[in-house]
Amino acid sequence: MTLIKMCSKAEEQSMKIISEKGSTSNKENDADDIWEDSLEDDYLVAAADFFEERAKLPQDPLHTIRGGMLWVTDFVGQAWCEQQMFYKLRPPLDEMGDVIIEDLANKPSVKAGTDMHAERELEIQTPVQVDVTCREDKYAIKLLNMIIAANSLMQGHSRREIPIFGMPSNHGVFIVGIIDEIRCDPNTQELDLVEFKTRESNSTPGNAQKKTHEMQLCIYNQMWDELVTGKFYDKEAYAHHLRLDLTAELGAGVLNEIRSATIDAFHVKNLDQLLDVCFSHMRHLTCINQIYIEYTFQRDKSLIGIEEVLFNEKVFNQKMAHAISYWKGERTIDGVDIEDAWKCKKCDFGEVCVWRKKKAEECAEKNNNKRLRVQ
Ligand code: SF4
Repeated sequence: MTLIKMCSKAEEQSMKIISEKGSTSNKENDADDIWEDSLEDDYLVAAADFFEERAKLPQDPLHTIRGGMLWVTDFVGQAWCEQQMFYKLRPPLDEMGDVIIEDLANKPSVKAGTDMHAERELEIQTPVQVDVTCREDKYAIKLLNMIIAANSLMQGHSRREIPIFGMPSNHGVFIVGIIDEIRCDPNTQELDLVEFKTRESNSTPGNAQKKTHEMQLCIYNQMWDELVTGKFYDKEAYAHHLRLDLTAELGAGVLNEIRSATIDAFHVKNLDQLLDVCFSHMRHLTCINQIYIEYTFQRDKSLIGIEEVLFNEKVFNQKMAHAISYWKGERTIDGVDIEDAWKCKKCDFGEVCVWRKKKAEECAEKNNNKRLRVQ
């Protein structure tokens, strides 16, 4: 089985493209995409157009912070603490005026987790390097990986690192992500969704963290089900949110891979046609049967435990509606509730957090009022 990866001749572009799950991919919707080192006239004109267009967009967090679309991992951070998620995306300044940035990528535990994910992927998939020449090529590779995954699953094999996209539960927000694994039972063809989490300690996490993982899995579940049932079949939304030209001809390297991967795509020349093939392959699959989180101990790679997540559509929709109402600018940001104040003790933004300060002041005022009543 193969997994298609990208390799651009321009190394800089290649770096940005490959890091799909990392923070660099967030620049896709940012001005960084068009600002180059040499500011020639074309770039300046493109940048001016970009900012002019952006000024016309709604001034809600979805557009001002995330460029009009979200990543599934945004909801994970949001489920832990919305204020913290905001600070990670828009780092505040400390007392010295320096930007506070949580350097997640260099944390040993995060690096170990990333390495273990990569190892697992290679256990069942072989990466293939493909030259890309434009953004459309990059997204064609993601679609191609979905098509290859669908073919594998139809043959009863499991598949890892599957790109996914959609607008789950009609909230009007386009979301992208990568599913760790879909496991196929070759006898029943039932599909289980599995998320792989690595742990520094040899125990499963507490409930607060589990809830963030559950949210992540439920979003994948919903997006998957909407693709396989044909509920999400919106090429226009795909093109609009990812800013792609569906009619642009794909590069030769990508077209070669597409044609060698599946006979159904022999006619494909652009994303519009490839999307049709992708949607049609997905509709040959079934909805998710069960969802699991596998917790693994980083030190010796032993399995700590497997937890099943129960998907309750009504509860999920309520949680999504609440989360998305922030992104749409329908409510202000929330920090943690008083019973979760323990999270603030190990938060990098504790010193500057406005939510924490506000809650501390409210608490002091309450205590003061109580004291006055007693006197
Ligand atoms: S200090 Fe507390 S409320 Fe503020 S960002 Fe951190 S966890 Fe959230």
